Amino acid sequence: DKVVEFDERKIVEDILKEVVTLEDIITATKGKAYNIKDAKIKVNKIQTDSRKIEEGDVFVALIGEKFDGHNFIKEVKEKGALCAVVSKLDLNVDIPQILVDDTLMAYKEIARYYRLRYDIPVVAVTGSSGKTTTKEMIASVLSQRLNVLKTEKNFNNEIGIPMTVLNLNSKHRAAVLEMGMDRFGEIESSAYVANPNIAVISNIGTAHIEKLGSRENILKAKMEITTFFKEDNILIINADNDMLNKVVTDKYKVVKFAINNDAEYKAYDIIDLGSEGMEFKCLLSGIERKFKVALPGTHNIYNALSAIAVGDIIGLNYEEIYNGILVFNPGNMRMNIVELDEDIKLIIDCYNANPDSMKAALDVLSKFKGRRIAVLGDMFELGEYSVELHKEVGGYAANKCDMLVAIGDFSKYYFEEAKNKIESYYFKTKEEALNFIKSNVKGNDVILIKASRGMELEYISDNLKEHR
Ligand code: ATP
Ligand code: MG
Repeated sequence: DKVVEFDERKIVEDILKEVVTLEDIITATKGKAYNIKDAKIKVNKIQTDSRKIEEGDVFVALIGEKFDGHNFIKEVKEKGALCAVVSKLDLNVDIPQILVDDTLMAYKEIARYYRLRYDIPVVAVTGSSGKTTTKEMIASVLSQRLNVLKTEKNFNNEIGIPMTVLNLNSKHRAAVLEMGMDRFGEIESSAYVANPNIAVISNIGTAHIEKLGSRENILKAKMEITTFFKEDNILIINADNDMLNKVVTDKYKVVKFAINNDAEYKAYDIIDLGSEGMEFKCLLSGIERKFKVALPGTHNIYNALSAIAVGDIIGLNYEEIYNGILVFNPGNMRMNIVELDEDIKLIIDCYNANPDSMKAALDVLSKFKGRRIAVLGDMFELGEYSVELHKEVGGYAANKCDMLVAIGDFSKYYFEEAKNKIESYYFKTKEEALNFIKSNVKGNDVILIKASRGMELEYISDNLKEHR
């Protein structure tokens, strides 16, 4: 019974469910209603941004670091909001209000209410690296047959998840949500809102070790994605990851993907096509099937395998899964290979970085011919492990490329580790590094550019693209 059903009656039922009234919001938030004359009135959208309020919307007054939504109650009333969900009543403003203890929790409860109206597969994705890539690949596969709701950009936190879930409507036949975290409880909260029936953990690395303290804790925090799992829900994990490989449970189903270890979805006969991507085979229902992912690097085989697993479990056929993987193309700044004159190639991966993704990117760089230059900036959020992990990546780089250009503060530890093994340079600023690169780059060079988001190393790739 793997096949996704298209039951007309169910679609009609879903459309009927689409109508949400103020009464539903009161039920969902368990709030106390003030000033409400007609609870049967239909809600347009749920909105937390007062600037975006339209006629008929419900405004949830979140309290953020910079803003307190409660200061905008009058404004949203003027814009035609139907009602405000608040934790501080303001009866001076003549607008229906629902009083709750915690407006963020109320926002989550409303989103959960929206989610539970629909009986569709909801796939949640977490992991230390590759969440967005995996989410996009899964969405690409499922979109071959189904109308898919997915997390936009990187909206993967406590606010981003409810915001995404609130966009669910009767036309969606599946949802794919990225769940990030930098502390305990965050993924549990996202799982509560999204109530996933399939979860993917791409890997357990060292990202966010600063706040969590150990890899065991990182595993624990990521496993929160299964908190609300029932017996027939499915956790999909990477069996080549030392931490994930140890996961055993009889509370729900576990499905594994791997290259090196035993797994239900195992890639073999891998052909590395360099910048063209990777080809591999994998058994689907016992039949040998070929796949091609258009992204370089072994890590993208793992990302593809999890998308294959999800597609197969949800009931898509081989052609659909094959095409979904093949056509997937990531946004820019993630392993984006750009060719300049004189056969100079840029591998632009400056969207973000942590030790695992640094190594994955260096692996890709190492496969190229020509002079391989790694332009690496700082990795943030590593706390007391910062020095050690920068050294580790520096040592790794020394074995994978011909020249290192290190930029930033912690980056001097890359330089320290690499300088005796390969040609290495260290700069405090991007401007200095750019000048150096511009005057030293020559034909056939391959330049990897990568750092944490905050380093904004696209300054270097953008400049090289324009002025070479
Ligand atoms: P963020 O925490 O910023 O949301 P993310 O987990 O969503 O990151 P992506 O944006 O998909 O991750 O990729 C970030 C970086 O990790 C990229 O540089 C990419 O090359 C690398 N990467 C992608 N997939 C993997 C993987 N499976 N293992 C290791 N590194 C990966
Ligand atoms: Mg992401």
